Amino acid sequence: QNSPSPEELHAFDREHFLHPWHDMNAWRGYDNMLVEAAQGIYLYDETGRKFIDGPGGMWCVQIGYGQAEMAEAIAAQVLKMPYASPFTNVTQPGAILAKKLADFAPGDLNNVFFTTGGSTAVDTALRAMQFMNNSLGRPEKKMILAREKGYHGSTYLAASVSGKERDVTKFDMESRLVHFLPNVNPYLRPDEMSVAQWCDAKVQDLEEAIAQLGAENIGAFIAEPILSSGGVIVPPEGYHKRTFDICRAHDILYISDEVVTGFGRLGHWFSSQAVFDIEPDIITCAKGLTSGYLPLGACIISDRMMERMTHRGEVLFSNGYTYSGHPVSCAAALKNIEILERDNVLAHVRDIAPYFQERLARLTRYPIIGDARGAGLIGCIEARLSKDGSRLEDERKIGAMIDQACHDRGLIVRPLINMCVFSPPLVISRTQVNDLFDILGQAIETVC
Ligand code: PLP
Repeated sequence: QNSPSPEELHAFDREHFLHPWHDMNAWRGYDNMLVEAAQGIYLYDETGRKFIDGPGGMWCVQIGYGQAEMAEAIAAQVLKMPYASPFTNVTQPGAILAKKLADFAPGDLNNVFFTTGGSTAVDTALRAMQFMNNSLGRPEKKMILAREKGYHGSTYLAASVSGKERDVTKFDMESRLVHFLPNVNPYLRPDEMSVAQWCDAKVQDLEEAIAQLGAENIGAFIAEPILSSGGVIVPPEGYHKRTFDICRAHDILYISDEVVTGFGRLGHWFSSQAVFDIEPDIITCAKGLTSGYLPLGACIISDRMMERMTHRGEVLFSNGYTYSGHPVSCAAALKNIEILERDNVLAHVRDIAPYFQERLARLTRYPIIGDARGAGLIGCIEARLSKDGSRLEDERKIGAMIDQACHDRGLIVRPLINMCVFSPPLVISRTQVNDLFDILGQAIETVC
């Protein structure tokens, strides 16, 4: 039987495949790229055309595509034992991976709850907070502080703490429990304000929210070390440590959402402690944990919190998935970690990131680029929007225009309104970094 032609595949997709974040106005009008193959940092379409994968899948393909060892490890686990219920069984990949993650995580974060991805890891973290406070006999302490432009996932609770306007407009999100702190993006600070003063102001936003809502009503603060999907917002230096200390002083749990920043994206297994000097109560991770070869996430909980979850009363934490700690996903994660360790990928990121950031910063030489920011192997360019809004509609499409110009030259980026973001596979070489930024520069020139 002949396999369907590219045209047929496009038709099946248009007719039947509901893509994430589907634009309902473009209903059945999608004509996304057909990805036929992938190798290293490149994607190939059905004609064999090669593209640098700027977004690294969705911030996840750390070791690059086409790693035969991954295929072998996955196949071996499928043949040996593809599934065992996590409710009652120990499996070799699950147990070893849990131990590994506990070793990588800072301090006493030793308790790993495996999930199906990032959203379910965040959901688990928030449910654990609720459960803990109910166990401690303080059911009112459940509000969640989150941040404008944060993104934590698409399950109901994770979406409820996501602060991107587009996430909430047509849903009835959980709003009783959630309070959003204003945008922390230093690029938005008034001209007369230094970054240090901006940091003071953002810390004060947290203090004021606690004063207004009452610490006795707030269970957790959830924060991405770098707000990734919200436009690669790197909070000002010192912000994380100061907000962490305030949370600790008020007995508010600190949840560090490392779904993007974990597994080497900033040159470390986790960035919370290594980069930002904090030891959260919970770290959530996913994506780079398996380099995207299979779905898997984890919610890593501190001993201190576990003790309080079992403090008294009801101790059944009724939260779990059929596929928690799926043996095949765990085997993929273990092989991914082995490759990251063996090939010194984290050291490579620490080595190449300054050059990546230097090339990124140079893009502000184009007048249209208002800001070029990032950290580790994450970058974002933000086009200026005119203050009077007169050309706003056109300008809001600049991300898509730059994306198209990049695509024409063999580079994929991720457009977000007037921004483009990218987070290439961590194995990217210096020459490939040059290729990426050369193409990006040419694309910006055509749009200017
Ligand atoms: N948390 C963060 C910081 C993310 O960036 C994402 C996804 O982009 C999620 C959570 C949700 O992860 P998933 O899409 O695997 O459910």
